[in-house]
Amino acid sequence: MAIRRIMIYGKDDVLRKKAKPVAKIDERILELLDDMAETMRHADGVGLAAPQVGILRRVVVIDVGEGLIELINPEIVEASGQQRGAEGCLSIPGVRGEVIRPERVKVKALNRKGESIEITGTGLLARALCHEIDHLDGILFIDKVVPGTLVEG
Ligand code: ZN
Repeated sequence: MAIRRIMIYGKDDVLRKKAKPVAKIDERILELLDDMAETMRHADGVGLAAPQVGILRRVVVIDVGEGLIELINPEIVEASGQQRGAEGCLSIPGVRGEVIRPERVKVKALNRKGESIEITGTGLLARALCHEIDHLDGILFIDKVVPGTLVEG
């Protein structure tokens, strides 16, 4: 495992590009998953998407304190409710802002064995799922921030 460099908004254009689906879960994807988990933990984050380490593949890792979640080709298939809360991003250091997200989402994805999985998240997990899946389409939380709520810190 290795810690990879986290791409920074304003400097690394890759953050604005759309990631491609993973066609085959090979050794490189497994290594990417391992490195992303290590990089996320090292940076003290709760989620990381592959474009944030410069790889345009639809791969996400999340850990909101309930254990590591690895998602390949994730898709939000259901969303309900609404929550408003502060969000930050490892690729946009030094700022936070409020974003409105669904309170609950259901996500379909593949795990590292290539098996179909479904996970339902509420609260912080729902927020993290939405934030990371947005990264796969080049969307950043600052695009959705409630006007006037972006602050340093
Ligand atoms: Zn982010």
